[in-house]
Amino acid sequence: MSIPNKYLNDLMERVIARDPGQSEFHQAVREVLTSLSPVVDAHPEYITEGVMDCLVEPERVIKFRVPWEDDQGNVHVNRGFRVQFNSAIGPYKGGLRFHPSVTESVIKFLGFEQIFKNSLTGLPIGGGKGGSDFDPKGKSDGEIMRFCQSFMSELSKYIGPDTDVPAGDIGVGAREIGYLFGQYKRLRNEFTGTLTGKGLSYGGSLARTEATGYGLCYFTDCMLKDAGKSFKGATVVISGSGNVATYACQKATEFGAKVVALSDSNGYIYDKNGIDLDLVKEIKQVRRDRIRTYVDVHPEAEYHEGCKDIWTIPCDIALPCATQNELNGEAAKALIANGCYAVAEGANMPCTPDAVDALKEAGVLFGPAKAANAGGVAVSALEMSQNSMRFFWSFDEVDEHLKRIMTDLYHNAAKAAAEYGMAGDLVAGANIAGFLKVANSMLAYGLV
Ligand code: NDP
Repeated sequence: MSIPNKYLNDLMERVIARDPGQSEFHQAVREVLTSLSPVVDAHPEYITEGVMDCLVEPERVIKFRVPWEDDQGNVHVNRGFRVQFNSAIGPYKGGLRFHPSVTESVIKFLGFEQIFKNSLTGLPIGGGKGGSDFDPKGKSDGEIMRFCQSFMSELSKYIGPDTDVPAGDIGVGAREIGYLFGQYKRLRNEFTGTLTGKGLSYGGSLARTEATGYGLCYFTDCMLKDAGKSFKGATVVISGSGNVATYACQKATEFGAKVVALSDSNGYIYDKNGIDLDLVKEIKQVRRDRIRTYVDVHPEAEYHEGCKDIWTIPCDIALPCATQNELNGEAAKALIANGCYAVAEGANMPCTPDAVDALKEAGVLFGPAKAANAGGVAVSALEMSQNSMRFFWSFDEVDEHLKRIMTDLYHNAAKAAAEYGMAGDLVAGANIAGFLKVANSMLAYGLV
């Protein structure tokens, strides 16, 4: 589909020609440029001053080899990435993903999205992302530690508390952040808040673990309220059973909803009585096991192999919280047919473009990832502030900040959409509101 503004449409073609294989990155750029068409129509200076061309090209892409040894003494070599996309409003900030599906395209798409998400939080953080095609599944703690140390030996040259502050993402949780931070500290001989998502004993922030899932529910709650609805009494389907899914499940339940499904990369569980979250936490966080073992304890629940049919479960609200492109047009149609009235993205870009179109056309409330899942990075930025101050806030203080940030973010995105004649379109609203602050800073700097 072509982008309404001709200059942006040509720019999109140049982005594709420059890196033809990077389909995930193209998908993310196309969505943003489409939303920004009315903005550059009204403000052509963003084009003439070079802001749009600079926006789609990362400031820096770092790509490196990561050699490590397994427990049997065999050597493996993975590839590491850090994309420092945009530092117009603050140090690069964004997670590290360890997953076999990681490519330069995936990291660039995530880094690009992060620019707007971070801007939307209202906090001074630029956009970046990193990771590796390393698969942590089935590895021992020793193997994970050696991999993280090797990864950080190279990455440490490019990051710092005022330069670039990585965090976790898929496959990078508390254990990995500990090994990464330990190696950074050893190499640099300094104790600064260079990584976020740290353990509470060494500089982590209370409520960071819960932040993305809770923030998703705070955002969704605002979106529902504006439409005269609420979580109370609603049936909710959530994909994934990692960090985001777990705490989205917890907060949605606290808000009075019944969450009936969760998944992992092998399949999904459907428990019509409501998910037993303590059991899921035990399976995924303590035993690091598969979600199918849930039915060993709850035989009345169902386990289905494969993930895609999770969206055929009847629900009022769907929260995709696993990975990109996990909810396609067909899944969107199934949700609509079953009466689902709200979808909010906990994962990054979980809905394919045809799914988003179908949901919007059917009048389903839609919360896009860069707004709806910004709670994680917002609390990461609060972790940076606490580290700089060498001070800690209580769980409730951080949670209060998070609630306010997500509420403001929702209203800013809704307002930006209305101002550009697209009331109710939070995809456009989030892209525009996130863009303006970054673009105006870039204008102020001149061509850099
Ligand atoms: P985790 O690694 O904790 O959990 C990911 C979950 O998704 C797991 O249940 C995993 O299953 C499942 N999953 C991963 N890949 C696939 C796949 N290809 N198909 C189906 N299921 C899959 O990651 P997070 O919860 O941290 O992240 C989830 C999403 O949220 C990502 O898109 C991430 O970028 C985004 N996000 C995360 C933030 C955070 O603070 N953690 C902040 C903002 C966005 P399995 O257990 O089998 O691997």
